[in-house]
Amino acid sequence: MKNIAIIGAGMTGLSLAYNLHEHNITIFDKSWRAGGRVSTRQHDNYLFDHGAHYLSINHSVNQLNEVVNRYNLGQVIEIDFATDYLKNKKTKKKIIIGQNGMNSIPKSIFDNIKVKNNLNSKIIKISKNSNDLYSLFSEKEEYKNFDYVLICIPYLQSKELSKDLIDFTQIDSEPSYDPIHTVMLSYKDNNNINIKAGLNLHKDISFFMNQNIKFNELSHDCWVLNMSSEYTKNNIDIDKTELEKYAQSIFEETFDIKNNVSFIKSHRWLYGQTKLSYNAISKKNWINSKDNKIFLCGDWVQGKSLSDAWDAGEKLSHYIKILSV
Ligand SMILES: Cc1cc2nc3c(=O)[nH]c(=O)nc-3n(C[C@H](O)[C@H](O)[C@H](O)COP(=O)(O)OP(=O)(O)OC[C@H]3O[C@@H](n4cnc5c(N)ncnc54)[C@H](O)[C@@H]3O)c2cc1C
Repeated sequence: MKNIAIIGAGMTGLSLAYNLHEHNITIFDKSWRAGGRVSTRQHDNYLFDHGAHYLSINHSVNQLNEVVNRYNLGQVIEIDFATDYLKNKKTKKKIIIGQNGMNSIPKSIFDNIKVKNNLNSKIIKISKNSNDLYSLFSEKEEYKNFDYVLICIPYLQSKELSKDLIDFTQIDSEPSYDPIHTVMLSYKDNNNINIKAGLNLHKDISFFMNQNIKFNELSHDCWVLNMSSEYTKNNIDIDKTELEKYAQSIFEETFDIKNNVSFIKSHRWLYGQTKLSYNAISKKNWINSKDNKIFLCGDWVQGKSLSDAWDAGEKLSHYIKILSV
């Protein structure tokens, strides 16, 4: 049994913890909760999945389906979906959502796997000790004696954290991300919009989704809008009020809304979705240190969805199992 530190309790880190359960795992996250970009936000009586919106029904990561079924984490719903709103292309689409918001998926996995954890612990340094084991440091504490350290956070942050331990000059091309501004908005009265989600609402809004189809308890009409990556990049530091007003005006013009907005808030995901995956550039499934003790992994290795994140963790876990016999 090895002592393994997993940094990041998003879907990648959870996949590793799930697959390496026979080892002595400690999972660290800077946040107070597991899930990372699978995030459900509550503001007063409003609820929004303002990170990942749904799990695709067609994804090909069998183990993730098994886990979703095993712990009863998801429900399949069929919705009216615009495959391209601007071109008036609509269809019925089946998707998988969490039983209680998308974050309930990683939250339940985290609760079920029951590994040692340190939430609210941002790891700022990793160092090798004289006994060839590794220590992790947060602002307040040192965590000692790890055989392996698996870093499951966005690529640029992983690189910063491990730059003294991994030779990054060997990496020719680097994976990249698109940033995404999301806007959460609500109306007291129902706007009776038939289409529940879709792509290309506007040249600057790449995705929109109703939240009432996910949360029965919502009394207000709640929506999440994703600004396009192009718009987000060009307006990365935009004043939040300006962004929110702009998104609201597009939404209201598009659906001819006369109601007054009752809540609006935005969030910037600096590392929103993978643009170019590491596997597409290198055909490799992780980045490792020379001594094969520090590994970098995340959705950015395989693609841009939460099934890619699970897949990345599962693939790395097979290798760690081989190394640790
Ligand atoms: C707006 C948006 C919409 C999306 N929509 C979808 C969708 O509809 N369907 C879909 O499949 N995917 C979607 N995705 C992508 C999906 O959310 C990600 O692919 C997936 O959640 C990534 O998981 P991860 O574990 O690799 O990374 P993350 O979820 O980013 O997890 C990394 C974790 O590491 C923690 N962390 C970071 N630094 C440190 C540190 N130094 N110390 C300790 N902890 C640290 C973070 O707090 C976080 O919990 C969306 C993403 C965004 C942003």
